[in-house]
Amino acid sequence: MEIFDSHAHIFLDDFDEDREDVLRRAADAGVTRIVNVGLDFESSRVALALSRRTPGHYAAAGWHPHESQLLGPEDPGRLMELARDPLIVAIGEIGLDFFRYHSPRDVQLKAFRSLLEAATGSGKPVVIHTRDAYEETREILAEFREGLSGVLIHCFTSGPEEAEGYLELGCFLSLPGVLTYKNAAPMREAAAMIPRDRILVETDAPYLAPVPRRSRRNEPSYLPYLLEELGRILGMTASEAADLTTANALGFFGLEAKGEGAPGGTSDRAPTPAAAR
Ligand SMILES: [Zn+2]
Ligand SMILES: [Zn+2]
Repeated sequence: MEIFDSHAHIFLDDFDEDREDVLRRAADAGVTRIVNVGLDFESSRVALALSRRTPGHYAAAGWHPHESQLLGPEDPGRLMELARDPLIVAIGEIGLDFFRYHSPRDVQLKAFRSLLEAATGSGKPVVIHTRDAYEETREILAEFREGLSGVLIHCFTSGPEEAEGYLELGCFLSLPGVLTYKNAAPMREAAAMIPRDRILVETDAPYLAPVPRRSRRNEPSYLPYLLEELGRILGMTASEAADLTTANALGFFGLEAKGEGAPGGTSDRAPTPAAAR
């Protein structure tokens, strides 16, 4: 079983005490690929440095909506410069968070647009964080959709209606451990209707640990619990759900070329691990 964690933050200090153990447990559990997702310029650099250490680990260069008010005029350009590294497989996370409002609404909207503008034509897909901001997120994504090589809605926990809205835009949806929570019935309903080739899975570690590890620090080795549940919903084994979501993630992040699964892939943006290290 090969598991692809499409979204984690193993570089955060939550893991300072035992990062090596966490990575070893991930490998032991079959998590062969992890995308470490940056939250601003500095953490994107740290995520990249961490991903260099383990084959199959990648990074995303982003600016979290919580930090929108710290985004300077030069920052989108600096991020794109960083993102030229072949181990950076996406621009993100970027987006809107109208749940916590760590940055004011208009500042978030402006930052989101300028980051999408910078990502346009970069050839790298975007990873979107959106919370309590469905209408605005969808509207802005629709505006930029054409210039983006791919869009992943990370931590998708909503119901079928919002899933449909994103799917119409050609988005992929990444499901976190919330799928295993008792109160997540609408999300399970959505998971059942998402086309199978558009589903990815993620930990969002250290957040959102699945049942039976709920409310503990999350880590990639817990992904089998989520895959078990996803498999139940899709009528397949956890191992089949792992294969499916891994294949989808490889395709989404442009990693299906040399040494990364399907033979004959020739995507320009696919890094060859040997060249990248
Ligand atoms: Zn997020
Ligand atoms: Zn995240």
